[in-house]
Amino acid sequence: MDVLPSARALLATGPLCDNCLGRPFADRSFGLGNGERGRGLRVAAALADDEDFDPGDPHDCWVCEGATARFDEWAERAVEAVEGVEFDTYQVGTRVPPLVEENEVLLREDAGLEPDAGEPLRKEYNREVGKRFGRLTGAEVEFGRPDVQFLLDLDENRVEATVNSAFVYGRYRKLERDIPQTEWPCSDCRGSGRDGADPCPTCDGTGYLYPESVQQLTAPVVEDVMDGVDSVFHGAGREDVDALMLGTGRPFVIEVEEPRRRDVDVERLEADINAFADGKVEVEGLRLCTHGMVERVKRLDASKRYRAEVEFGGDVTAADLTEAVGALEGTTVEQYTPNRVDHRRAAKTRTRTVHDVEGELADPRHAAVEVHGEGGLYIKELISGDEGRTEPSLAGLLGVSATVTALDVLAVEGEDEPFEDEAFFLD
Ligand SMILES: [Zn+2]
Ligand SMILES: [Zn+2]
Repeated sequence: MDVLPSARALLATGPLCDNCLGRPFADRSFGLGNGERGRGLRVAAALADDEDFDPGDPHDCWVCEGATARFDEWAERAVEAVEGVEFDTYQVGTRVPPLVEENEVLLREDAGLEPDAGEPLRKEYNREVGKRFGRLTGAEVEFGRPDVQFLLDLDENRVEATVNSAFVYGRYRKLERDIPQTEWPCSDCRGSGRDGADPCPTCDGTGYLYPESVQQLTAPVVEDVMDGVDSVFHGAGREDVDALMLGTGRPFVIEVEEPRRRDVDVERLEADINAFADGKVEVEGLRLCTHGMVERVKRLDASKRYRAEVEFGGDVTAADLTEAVGALEGTTVEQYTPNRVDHRRAAKTRTRTVHDVEGELADPRHAAVEVHGEGGLYIKELISGDEGRTEPSLAGLLGVSATVTALDVLAVEGEDEPFEDEAFFLD
């Protein structure tokens, strides 16, 4: 294609700014801006035809109606929209008035070009305002999931700014029993804390069945330090309310919505949380992470290591225990859905592997049993046999009843790979 005749045809449609003249050729000569393309064509056409040079006034442009003269202004407005917010990455989107979109098609048709020749004004706007925003703030453009994103609504003359969530990964230990992982609203008053005009008698007016949770002991500190508007706690599974979480701790991600700070000192944050949680909960290994870590924490197959305090219905010798424990090690256990499990869940038989078991007798009626099992293995039932619904079981092998009196989780680890994959960390 010879560009000069096309440029003449475009100029003949009416007053055009350099950008609107150059944009139909946006896919030519990489490295030029559309404004430079348009200016070059305008100069070349004037020289070739030996005509007086008319630079064209962007405000008179019949296609964009002066929009290309306002890149700087929109970039400054975007900066203002996130004043006081900390971010490293951004993305700019533009909503162009429908009339201007129609003009773009008309321009090309009138000049005998394809209706989508070059690129649309929307794309040029995203790029040009984005470049300026980057220069003004030092932030980098990111097309995946940026810290902040903008929609420049040229039609409504408005900047819509979105501050995306920030994420902190860590592992928690729960050192006291009867603390649920997440807030547990009272089912009687549905969390309102009210019973008509009176406080709800079930929860003493607190709205919660348990006064504290791992979430309530950790997430508010992160939310406060990051100066966000809300937070969400994502755990890699959860232990029973009455179980302790010890050892390696359990992986989690705390998501802070609309944070004004995201580049926080995680060591200091860790100390702040641990002071706030006051020995009931402890966190460690805090790191800033990506949004992708939320899915990883929630979906990665994990194996668990448990420690169970067990009481027997008859006397057991150390030799019996060693033999029974040896028989369980490495076996595949069939477990029919236990009675204690939520009855809304469809009952079925699941099979899970017992990786490793160790038992230590305290006296003929009591033992401590450590089990390392595949995720989803029901430990209380592995010990008790659950009236024949779990096979094999410690009780079945010993020939006496066995009951778990206390259950703690010692480790939560990825079954095939660790949770801590460097690709998901920001620091
Ligand atoms: Zn224009
Ligand atoms: Zn209540």
